[in-house]
Amino acid sequence: MSDAAAQNIILIGPPGAGKGTQAERLVKSRNMVQLSTGDMLRAAVASGSPIGKKAGALMEAGELVPDEVVVGIIDERLDQDDIKAGGFILDGFPRTTGQAEALDQLLDAKGVSLDHVINMEVDIAALVERITGRFACGDCGAGYHDTFKPTKTAGICDECGGKEFKRRADDNEEAVKTRLDAFHNQTAPLINYYADRGLVRPVDGMASIDEVSQAIEALFAAG
Ligand code: AMP
Repeated sequence: MSDAAAQNIILIGPPGAGKGTQAERLVKSRNMVQLSTGDMLRAAVASGSPIGKKAGALMEAGELVPDEVVVGIIDERLDQDDIKAGGFILDGFPRTTGQAEALDQLLDAKGVSLDHVINMEVDIAALVERITGRFACGDCGAGYHDTFKPTKTAGICDECGGKEFKRRADDNEEAVKTRLDAFHNQTAPLINYYADRGLVRPVDGMASIDEVSQAIEALFAAG
């Protein structure tokens, strides 16, 4: 299905663990495709589509949207050819046991396998600061942080020169608490689900962005 070098991965970790940052880097370094259900849902909300109307209020409150909504989105996306050359990164999916089971069925039916489930381990106390400082370029979507990754020149995107920036509606303290609860109650059990199949690779998500990238690249090199 995919060429010899392509590997398919899941990034698991609480909000603020650095999944999106690392996915952005893998897209550049390995020509992988980032499949972020959060990004897809935000696009649906922005476009005012029926899925967006269903998801918007739940997302703003930090709650999960129903499994069938995200499974449907991922099912369609996995059929597109661009995932075959460099493999895919599932970022923010699956988030519940029901989604993981549905993903197994989808991948079986499509003849695709998973190579690594990267568990980004982080200190929960650090997450609120990490999340509430996030912002992104309004033009190209490049991600930044007030303290940990500011733009090189204030007010100008390093990647595209854009001058408009945006913050996520759910990156406030109250929604972050709800999102962390959802992670503990519904997503953390997936680590055992995949550990039973020998797929889990723990990575220290408290290390620097470059060190985390190196740890992830080493997993790919090991095959
Ligand atoms: P994220 O960008 O991954 O932090 O996701 C932002 C929000 O989108 C989450 O808090 C949920 O409301 C929703 N969402 C994203 N992915 C999923 C998923 N796999 N299952 C349920 N809800 C999701």
